Amino acid sequence: HFDVSPPLLNRILERAPKQYLKAVDGIDFEIHKGETFGLVGESGCGKSTAARLAVGLYAPSAGAIEFAGTDIGPLNRRQMAPLRSRMQMIFQDPYASFNPRWRVRKIIAEPIRVFKLLKNDAEIEARVAELLTQVGLMPADGDKYPHEFSGGQRQRISIARALASNPDFIVCDEPTSALDVSVQAQILNLMRDLQRQYRLTYLFISHDLAVVFHISDRVGVMYLGAMVEQAPASELLRNPRHPYTRMLLDAIPDLEMSGRARTPVSGEVPSPISPPSGCTFHPRCPHANERCRAERPATIATDGGGQVACHGVEEGRI
Ligand code: SF4
Ligand code: MG
Repeated sequence: HFDVSPPLLNRILERAPKQYLKAVDGIDFEIHKGETFGLVGESGCGKSTAARLAVGLYAPSAGAIEFAGTDIGPLNRRQMAPLRSRMQMIFQDPYASFNPRWRVRKIIAEPIRVFKLLKNDAEIEARVAELLTQVGLMPADGDKYPHEFSGGQRQRISIARALASNPDFIVCDEPTSALDVSVQAQILNLMRDLQRQYRLTYLFISHDLAVVFHISDRVGVMYLGAMVEQAPASELLRNPRHPYTRMLLDAIPDLEMSGRARTPVSGEVPSPISPPSGCTFHPRCPHANERCRAERPATIATDGGGQVACHGVEEGRI
């Protein structure tokens, strides 16, 4: 469970510097080794903040983040160092995280040098060639610069860089959202192959439910900084309980949704700076009542092995 203090959401705070903001408050989930946990929600729901918390880039103001049995929240940079190499991130726009003047070889070798994983240049060279091959590129591609590659190839480069430190855990923040559908599928397949091969654990973040359900074992749905529902992916797809999960699923055009109408997601996401009272989803919820407007719903277990935070579900009227 973790909360984030206001200074962490710099971008939003620049626009509203005097406002108090809790970016995420009430996210509680576990990711098991070798699985993919998908995190979905509309933009601004706190997915990326949750991701950065998970790898220790942000420190929580309350709550705990455990990695392999260690609470990483209170660790300083030096204490964090041995764990850092075991956690990596892949972003939507790898180009933004590459130094454009570096050859790909140097980009991929950077984590190896930073974490001092190999000593001499020949070993590093061989490892970079191996990594390039593993992600479907050629060793000779190491000579090129990032701008010489397509978007999909650049994402392969960022995956190679993430793998370079032999991580256990990779946070993938919208890794395929900027790619064409056919390229998306190639990258997702590559990620799945690598997961099997190295027993990687993924936290996979996307606003695209179809992609998340395709790749995830379990899925959490976030709304305005809180986790409103989580369940095994198949269960969530078959039997979504929270009205917001239902709204998101109903808007997916290409999933088999037996007998349910396809309706676009309706309503605007309220500002996280002044969230609605009670259940923050109530202004958009067709099942909202007085209690929903006044009282924040507690998280309860569902029979499907999931959890949901909704008065309507708890009361048995949804
Ligand atoms: Fe809708 Fe009430 Fe459930 Fe919130 S708590 S999702 S408003 S029924
Ligand atoms: Mg984001």
